[in-house]
Amino acid sequence: MHNIFIIYTGGTIGMVKDETGTFVPFDFELIKRNLPDLSRLNYKLTVHSFSPIIDSSNMKPEIWIEMAQIIKNNYDDYDGFVILHGSDTMSFSASVLSFMLEGLQKPVILSGSQLPIGEIRTDARENMMTALEIASTKHLGVSMIQEVCILFDNKLFRGNRSFKYNSAKFEAFRSPNYPVLVEAGIHLQYNQEALLDNRDKEFILHTRLDDRVAVLKLFPGISPNTIKSILNADVRAIVMETFGSGNTTTDQWFLDLLKEAIDNGKNIVNISQCKVGSVELGRYETSTGLKAIGVLNGYDMTFEAAVTKLMYLQGEFEGQQDVAYWIEKNIRGELTIND
Ligand code: ASP
Repeated sequence: MHNIFIIYTGGTIGMVKDETGTFVPFDFELIKRNLPDLSRLNYKLTVHSFSPIIDSSNMKPEIWIEMAQIIKNNYDDYDGFVILHGSDTMSFSASVLSFMLEGLQKPVILSGSQLPIGEIRTDARENMMTALEIASTKHLGVSMIQEVCILFDNKLFRGNRSFKYNSAKFEAFRSPNYPVLVEAGIHLQYNQEALLDNRDKEFILHTRLDDRVAVLKLFPGISPNTIKSILNADVRAIVMETFGSGNTTTDQWFLDLLKEAIDNGKNIVNISQCKVGSVELGRYETSTGLKAIGVLNGYDMTFEAAVTKLMYLQGEFEGQQDVAYWIEKNIRGELTIND
């Protein structure tokens, strides 16, 4: 019998329409009622429902810490963990959990749906049943999946490589910079080479998150005042979303503002506004100046991974240099360094 721990946080999967026709979260009973097959399966399921159950747009670091703690507390007693979660911020939660759960050797699979489980055409049943099956799959007694993932529309993604790209289709997630880990068709096809193998690692829970992070999304014509207000915010790091392979204007006033912020103790991490490809500092003249003043390379990290990795690293380290060092390293399979 497979032993799976389900953490129910909310999201569309368990929503019902209220009297005004708006979707609101409902308790786990609704899911159980609409999935009678659950009790016929060879699974022993333990369910922990969060209180209150939320739309994932209300997700916050305190809940991430609670989730990670629940997984740690139950780690030895279960084959795997399935987190039912709204899709809106699922990639943030999957990313941050990947950093908080170091050396994970069991599957932690986040899933949900685009249509509530009570709707005729719902994608909830397939998503949930596939998530449960993958969460329980072992080979020679060892979990096939040893990382935090997202299961949606028959695909299993590495959590910290994924982002929500579509709010209208069942195919809500993509991870263009990293291969799909499992494709669910008639068989479950594991992409063995793409999976993390943490067997020689120690499982360590990290629960300190420092959310003093801001975002600077560039556009042609952005004013010095707007940039200043973001750089002067009470934060320790700024995720700077740049053009193409990490390019920005070469105007001196812009580079001076960034340099001043870095000299004042802030880390600036360069990630691209493009969803596919990587930052390559120095490839064009429009990024060589950034490298020279100490802007950090975010490589091909998703926005979600960059923000949550900074929260995690800032929770772990007091100093600017330590955070700067680790943000450019691949610590949980979240970035690819080609140079
Ligand atoms: N607003 C919902 C949520 O993120 C959307 C979903 O679950 O798909 O909780």
